[in-house]
Amino acid sequence: MILRLKKSLGQHLLISSGVLNRIAEYAQLSEGEVVVEIGPGTGLLTKALLKYPITKLYLIELDTEMLEYLQENIKDERVVLIQADATTFNYQELGERKLKVLGNLPYNVASLIVENLIYYHSLIPLALFLVQKEVAEKWLSGKSWLSIFIQTFYELEYLMTVPPRFFKPQPKVDSALIRFKQFIKKEISDLKKYKKFLTALYQYKRKMLRKKFPEELLRECNLANNLRAEDLKLTDIFLLYEKWLQYS
Ligand code: SAH
Repeated sequence: MILRLKKSLGQHLLISSGVLNRIAEYAQLSEGEVVVEIGPGTGLLTKALLKYPITKLYLIELDTEMLEYLQENIKDERVVLIQADATTFNYQELGERKLKVLGNLPYNVASLIVENLIYYHSLIPLALFLVQKEVAEKWLSGKSWLSIFIQTFYELEYLMTVPPRFFKPQPKVDSALIRFKQFIKKEISDLKKYKKFLTALYQYKRKMLRKKFPEELLRECNLANNLRAEDLKLTDIFLLYEKWLQYS
């Protein structure tokens, strides 16, 4: 079977066995664990993961041709193939208690995949993704709504840079392996509302807070009204969110 790789689906296969094995190692897989791999493609990373004594490996892939290829080439009874879009996937539906999630993500939708994962963070103690280096740096920055959304529930670790030559076809930019370790800094009951708050806070980042929130609200939080979103610490953001909930 000859596979034509689809650019529109971000199909850049990681072909370095050294890097594939490193990713599997960094996932710290131990006996009995249940793992989800996003965008398995032709299953190169899948094979590296299956060397570990995990109980089950769910593969979430959107492309029908890739799924057929995997069906023919991966014979392991721990594998469950699922055709689904990882930007909207409901991890709860798997009915598992805990999941490790990882993958060489399709770069065009990497942030959407991670945003979706955050809604299920309580199920997912660890995640590990290969993404564009620039995207990884944005998540780490603490300077965008998504970066704060992620860091409310996870500690991020930049593990390594992966240059284009390790992929086929080669992407134009460097990639980075980044690990998410669950660390819930604040319990948030309504994540959609929290997203709404954070996107409002980070929209027009250069604008001062007083253009975005009522003055009394800022006063109650002891925040000067000429501050900007990026001046805030995580604890300020949590406090502001609490007070904002009372106002909205
Ligand atoms: N993990 C493989 C391939 C990575 S390429 C490897 O390392 O070799 C990204 C993969 O994600 C492709 O197989 C592509 O078909 C798949 N994909 C693209 N968009 C997706 C989506 N929204 N949901 C799930 N999989 C997707």
